Formats: sequence, structure tokens, C-alpha cells
Amino acid sequence: MENSALKSLPLRFTFRSKLFLGLGAIGLLILTLLALANRVIQEAFHHLQETRTQHLGPLVDINNLQTQINRIYSLEIELTRSLDYFAVTTQLETLSSESQLFTKQLSHFLDGHQARDTLDMQRLGLYWKGYQADLQRIQKHAARMETEQVLHISTYESFPRFTNITRTLQRIANDTETEASKIFDHAIDHHHQLRRTFLVAAAIGFAFYVAYMFFFLRSLSHRLSRLTDGAARLSEGRAEQPIEVQGNDELTELAIAFNAMQQEVAFRENALREAGGQLEHRVNLRTHELQETNKRLSNEVEERRRAEQALRLLSLAVEQSPVSVMITDTRGRIEYVNNAFVKISGYSPKEAVGETPALLKSGLTSRETYRDLWSTIARGSDWEGELHNRKRDGSLYWEHARISPVKNVDGEITHYLSVQEDVTLRREHEAKIAFQAQYDALTELPNRALAIDRLSQTIHHAVRTSCRVALMFIDLDDFKKINDSLGHEIGDELLVQASKRLRQAVRKEDTVARHGGDEFLVIMGDLSDVSDSKNLVSKILNAFAPPFTVSGYDLVVTPSIGLAVFPDDGGDPNTLLRNADLAMYQAKSLGRNTFQFFTQEIHDYSLRRLEMERYLRGALERDEMRVFFQPLVETTTSQIVGAEALIRWESAEIGWVMPDGFIEIAENTGLICPIGDWILLEACRQVQKWRNQRGIDFHLSVNVSPRQFLGRSIVESVRRALQMSGFPANQLHLEVTEGLLIRNRGEARETLGELKDMGIRLVLDDFGTGYSSLSYLKSFPFHSMKIDRSFINDITTNSDTRALVNAAVTMGKSLGLEVVAEGVETQEQLVILRQMGCSLAQGYYFSKPQAAEEFQRDWILPQLRPAGSAH
Ligand code: C2E
Ligand code: CA
Ligand code: CA
Repeated sequence: MENSALKSLPLRFTFRSKLFLGLGAIGLLILTLLALANRVIQEAFHHLQETRTQHLGPLVDINNLQTQINRIYSLEIELTRSLDYFAVTTQLETLSSESQLFTKQLSHFLDGHQARDTLDMQRLGLYWKGYQADLQRIQKHAARMETEQVLHISTYESFPRFTNITRTLQRIANDTETEASKIFDHAIDHHHQLRRTFLVAAAIGFAFYVAYMFFFLRSLSHRLSRLTDGAARLSEGRAEQPIEVQGNDELTELAIAFNAMQQEVAFRENALREAGGQLEHRVNLRTHELQETNKRLSNEVEERRRAEQALRLLSLAVEQSPVSVMITDTRGRIEYVNNAFVKISGYSPKEAVGETPALLKSGLTSRETYRDLWSTIARGSDWEGELHNRKRDGSLYWEHARISPVKNVDGEITHYLSVQEDVTLRREHEAKIAFQAQYDALTELPNRALAIDRLSQTIHHAVRTSCRVALMFIDLDDFKKINDSLGHEIGDELLVQASKRLRQAVRKEDTVARHGGDEFLVIMGDLSDVSDSKNLVSKILNAFAPPFTVSGYDLVVTPSIGLAVFPDDGGDPNTLLRNADLAMYQAKSLGRNTFQFFTQEIHDYSLRRLEMERYLRGALERDEMRVFFQPLVETTTSQIVGAEALIRWESAEIGWVMPDGFIEIAENTGLICPIGDWILLEACRQVQKWRNQRGIDFHLSVNVSPRQFLGRSIVESVRRALQMSGFPANQLHLEVTEGLLIRNRGEARETLGELKDMGIRLVLDDFGTGYSSLSYLKSFPFHSMKIDRSFINDITTNSDTRALVNAAVTMGKSLGLEVVAEGVETQEQLVILRQMGCSLAQGYYFSKPQAAEEFQRDWILPQLRPAGSAH
């Protein structure tokens, strides 16, 4: 809008035109003044010229004429005085030439100044003609030397004429002078007039110029000050009104532009104010962000400080680290080693730095390892592995090394950092473990895993050569007893000796292995005939014939051997192993110290066992278990004092099964725990029922398997049974065997203690079958001991046994134990036991184990007191 207003000024009287106009005016003025001055000078010059030609020229001529006439007169005078002829002649000549000259000069003068043909001028000619005539007469006279005439003429005639001429010349000169001064005065007057005109013109022009400049500058400054005020207002932010627009020049444009600018400024100011609001908002936001950033930065600074401290600690840690640290450059030159490196390798930092890690090379680490190492770290990855190195003193050691490339910020590898740990001990340990993984630590025989591996190899070989392979499963009879009673050290030593005998008995190419515990395996390959294995079996049996001497004990240990043959008895190692195991069991049941080949019967038997196991699992749910009771009586009175609960299994599938037929299976499968809990509760309930009747008061003995002591579940079971049946704790006897005490001594002792604290009585069952000593018994909280029935059986026939039983009874009593004899079948036995002082007995002589009804009929009813009778 404003720009268009500017453009709409069509004819601008611009400052430039004003300037040109001013300059033109002043130029014109100067030109005029110069012209005037020039005229003044020219006229002055002209007057001077005129004066010279008209006045000074004639004066000179007059002067010349005067001088010439004087000379002529002096020559005339001289003639009068001269008497010498020759001199007169010379003078006459001079006079005549002078006269001629004067004539010439005069005529020239008169010709030149005809304008002033005054009376004097006419007279002058006349006077000269007269004087000339006189002179001619004088000359004639002089030539004739007529001095008197001459003198006469000169004195009377020529002289006045001469004087007239001189006077006339004088007058003319005066006239000329007067005229000249008149003209000069006039010229001066004229000059003065011209000068005045010049000054007036100059003054008027100058005045006009000053006036013009005054008005021009005044309007300029006026408008400029308005603009300045406007600009000042604008600069102070007071852009209220537009400034007045005047004239039609650049300032007008400036004013219009200024107004436009002012408007624009106002507009922008508004926009700015709005933008300012937004800006402030954004500034606030940004400030907030910056504060956040600042906080973060200061956190980072703190972190960095911590990191630096950590770095310092780290470098100290590296220096003090028990792990050896080595830093090399990229070419593998060692730059740093720490204390641990020095300690492990034996090289001082001085010796190591500058060398390469090859310093430690023993030549025992494989080339591939090094190749792998270098290619890995050159790729920029970490390498980890084990190196077999040599110390400074020449000894070898194993090092676990982790080598990492160290990179700079650009990702270039600058160093390698190697952290090594002396793992020699671990390597040795590992080698040992590797050995242990395959070999038995005690006997140094191959273990079960290696044996199976060897067996399968032997089988493979046998397939190719169409041979047979025999696998022997050897179990040491009654080893458990030795181990339990004499201790593990003796058991271990026995095993070592047994393994040696086995090794000696077999061929070199046969494998003897330890299967575990007291079980060994022997693998024989390349058998053309099964009978070959029989020879070996008898060799082994013979080898075990002499007793082993261990720690002063002479121990007789016999093996039971089971044999299975490939391919007849199985096509794979596991089948062969299982079948040899089964055959070994069979051998054991046949009376030990013997061998047994795997047969169809054994197979069937094992199948039956499996079947029984299956049935046994469901026996409790199907309510197939029964409790039988056998009384304990006083040897003196044959009065019942207790009853032992003995379990029976009335199987729907296989009929009545005695404990010997299933307890072992139940123990092996863990079923003994629920079965044991069942009989405990069942027996307690039954006996409590009897005890609730008048006059009935006897204790209950329950057999407990060692397996039930695992995890002390027995304590809970007993507590629950007592609670549920209401049976008094102090009337419950628990029968345990020695095996329990020896196998897990600590735990058993604690559990037994806990049971005793509950008031339960503890009975040591089958006394004499183990290697238990009575003094050892003392340390357990037993209430009574039961002498095994095998002793009682022999008591009448074998005096040694009788002495043994006698000693046992005596010592048991001396230890405060109640001694029970079990398996009493005859009166004879009873009499002997009574004589020995054994107070309690149990056996077929009194009663076989009976079902509850029969037991009630035989033992409860006869004792019942009629109501009301006194005890
Ligand atoms: P044990 O604890 O020594 O039990 C005594 C065994 O001797 C019983 O055999 C009993 O019938 C038998 N017996 C008793 N008097 C005579 C006798 O005069 N002559 C002969 N030859 N034997 C006699 P049973 O009932 O077959 O029990 C065998 C074994 O089974 C028991 O030996 C015991 O160790 C175990 N047993 C029985 N019931 C249980 C039970 O409920 N729990 C546990 N864990 N084991 C039990
Ligand atoms: Ca018993
Ligand atoms: Ca017994």
C-alpha cells in the first residue's frame, strides 16, 4: 500500500533537481559578475590606450621637436662664435642636416596630429619657415665668413623666431596635457560607475542565493526534524500517529515510507508480542528441559567421577590381582605384566616386557590352539582357552587364558589383554575326575559305565568273529555285614584285596570292573565254548578260598557268581547285565559261594518277582495285609507279657505270602513305609482293643525296617498311630536290627532318642547275626535285646553256641537290658534259657504267630477276669 503511494508521485521535484537548480543559479550569477568585471577591465584598458596614443605620443613628439630646435639653435650660436673656416663648414653641414631632420619631424608631427589643426599648429609651420630662412641666410654668410651679418641675423632676426617656435611648442604641449587629464578624469568617473554596477549585481545575486538557501534548508530541517522525532518515537516504541506528508521529493517518499514502516512495525510488534508469548512458553519449556539436562549432566559427571575412582581401584586391583595379567601390543610385544604374572611365571617385568608371550611356550600346546587363538583375536573377538606353558625355572604349568583385543574409540585394535590363571591344580583334578568318571577310585578298576562300554565293544567284536561273550556278576556274600560291623575302612580294604584277587584270576584280555558296592563284573570275550567260562568261575571261587587278612582280622568272604552269555542270554549289554544279576541272586539263594548260569527258570523267577511287586503295590488298597501276633512269655511262669506283630500278605493272585517273600521287595520299592505305617496302626488298635478288657495288660512289639527311619518319618507315624488307637506309648516296643545302627549312625541315634523320649521302648532284634559288640550297644537307648533264633536252635546241641548265648544273656543283663530269646521250640531250650537267667522267650513252643481271632481265643480269653473279681 505504502509503496504504491510512493509510486503514485508522478512528477517529483527532487533534491537532485533542486541541487542542480541551485548550482545553475550560482553559476549564472558568477558568470554575470565575471562579464561585468571583464567589461570594467576592458574599458579601463581602452582608456589607457587612448590616453597613450592621443596624449602621450604628441607630448613625446613635441619634446623631440623642442630638443631638435634647441640643437639647431645651439649650432647657430656656435656659428657666430666660430672663426675657423673648416670648423664652420663642418658645422654648416651638421646644421643643414639637423634642419632637414627637424623639417621631417615637424611635418610628421603635423601630419600625425591634423585633427588638432589649431592656430598654434599653423603658426608653428610659419615660424619654422621664417626660422629656416634666417638659417639659410646665416649659412650663406657664414660660408663667406661674414661674421657680422651672421651675428646680426642671429641676434635680431633668428632668435625671436626661435623663441616663437619654442613658445608655440610649449603651448601645444600644455594644451595636450590639459586635454589628457580631462579625458583621464572622465575615464575614472566611468570606471567608478561600472564598479558600482558590479557590486550591486553581486550583492543582489548573493542575497537571492542566501534567501533561496535559507528557505530550502529551513524546510529541509523542519521536515527532517519531524522525521527524526517520528524515528525517535518509534525507537522508544511510541508509534502512535503517522507523520505529516508534505511536498513531493525524497523526504516525502521517506515520510511515506516511514509511515509505512511504522505501520509495519506496529503490525510486527503485534505479531512479535504474540510470538513473544509463544516464545516465552517455549523458553519456559526449554528452560525446564535444560534444567533436566543439567541435572542429568551433573549425574553423569558424578558417574564419571565414580567411574574414574573405580578405574583407579581397578588398576590397583589389576596390580594386586591374584590372577596374572599381561598386556601386549598388536604385534604381541609384552608391555605390561602384573605381580601375579611374576609370581606364577617366575619372569620379572624387566625380563618379560619387550618379549612376546612365546617366552612361556613349552611346545606342548597344540599348533591348532595357537592358530585358533591368533585368528580369533585378530578378528577382534575374545579367545578363551588353556595353554600348557613353561615357567622360568623350567617347570610346566597349565594356564587358563582369556585374551581380549583392546580397541580405541575408532574400533581399531591397539592392544591385547591377557588374563591368565594357573589351573594346573584344576587340570590335575580334572584328570582325576576323568579317571573317576571311568574308574573306581577305591579299587582302580573300571566302573560300571566303562564296563558297559567295554562289554558293548566286546559284543561288537564277538559278532564279527562269531564268538561268545560271558558276563560274570559277582557279589561278595555277607559283605554288608562286615562293612556294617567292622567299619568302612576294613570293608574298603577288603574290596581292594578282593579286586586284586579277581584281576589275578582272570585272563589279561578280560575286563574286571566294579559294578558298585560289593559287586564286580568280569567280561570274557572270544569264547568258543561256554564251558571255557566255567574254568574261570572255578578259578575265581578258588581265589576267594583263603581268608583275607585285613587289619589283623582274618575274614572269609565268598563270592556268589551269576553268568550270562552273549548271544544266548541277551543281545545287548543291559540285558546281559540284568540276567547275570538275576543269576547271581539265584546263586545266592542256592546257598552262596557258588555260581549260577542264567537259565529260563531264573528268568521266570525274576518275572514272578516283578509280578509280585506289581501285586504288592495294590495290596494295601485291596486290604490284603493281615497282622499276626506271637506272644512273648516269661520263662519262669509262661505268662504272656507281650505280643509281636508279624505281617502276612493274603494275596488274591498268589495266596498267602510270608514276610520273607515280600519284605525285601517292599523295602526295595519303598512300599515298606505305607505297609509299616499300616501294621503299626492296625496292631496298636487291635492290642488296645484287648487291653481295654479287664485284666489284660501286655506290651506290643512291632518290627520297623531301616528304610522307615529315612527322613525320620517313623516318629510321625508312631505318634499318629498312638493318637489314633489310644495305645500307651510305654507299652509299644519297636524292633530294629543292627544294620540300622551302623549304616546311618548319627540320624538313627537322634531318631531313636526322640522315640525314647516319647516313652517308646526300643528292642535290638536278631542279636548275634551282625558283628555288633555289646559295649557298642550301650551307647544306644535300647530297652531290650532279642537273641537271634539261629542261636537258640543250636543251644541244645552246640556247647559253643550255648556259651555264646550265656555270655550274651549275662552281659545284656549287666547292661540293664531285658534279654529275649526268640525261636524257642522245645522245652529243653526253654529250660537252658531259664537256667541262664534269660527271663523272656518267644517261639513255637509257646505259640506260632496267629491271626487276631485265634490269638484272642488262646491268649486273651483265658486271662480275662470275671467282672468284679479282684486283681
Ligand atoms: P523276626 O522279626 O525275627 O520275626 C520272628 C520270625 O521268627 C517270624 O517269622 C516268626 O514266625 C518266626 N518264628 C517265631 N518263633 C519261631 C520258632 O520257634 N521257630 C521258627 N523257625 N521260627 C519262629 P516271620 O513272621 O516269617 O517273619 C520273618 C521276618 O520278617 C521277621 O523276623 C521280621 O524281620 C520280618 N517281619 C515280619 N513282620 C514284619 C513287619 O510287620 N515289619 C517288618 N519290617 N518286618 C517284618
Ligand atoms: Ca522281630
Ligand atoms: Ca528276630
